[in-house]
Amino acid sequence: MDSFVTVAEDFIDHARIVGTRCHVRGLTYVPATMFCERCFSELDDWVEVPSRGRVFTYTMLYRDLDDEVLAQPAVLAYVKLDDCDGGLVHHLGEVEPEEVLIGLEVEAVFKDAAERKGSILDIQYFRPVDG
Ligand SMILES: [Zn+2]
Repeated sequence: MDSFVTVAEDFIDHARIVGTRCHVRGLTYVPATMFCERCFSELDDWVEVPSRGRVFTYTMLYRDLDDEVLAQPAVLAYVKLDDCDGGLVHHLGEVEPEEVLIGLEVEAVFKDAAERKGSILDIQYFRPVDG
């Protein structure tokens, strides 16, 4: 993998989450960055990271973008992915809002391959592991 285009194709074909690695500082950036924010090295080493992690923080949404009240509150979380130095903000699913906790172990649920486009929206949501 050597460009964002091939990474997107890899994401579509294999439903993998990838980041970029800085070997100087030993950091793996997710979302991927082109330069290390600590040492400014150019980053071109793409590495797969786990599609599971833990809820670092979260918030409840009671209204949609049109200010309409949602039938059921939605949960938006920052999920810190395992074995890397970053994470993704995404919806949580298959969980009741009152069951969400800081530190909850979650995994990504991907759309079917035919629906994936190589974006973060190829992830439908994160759900509790064993939940
Ligand atoms: Zn660095």
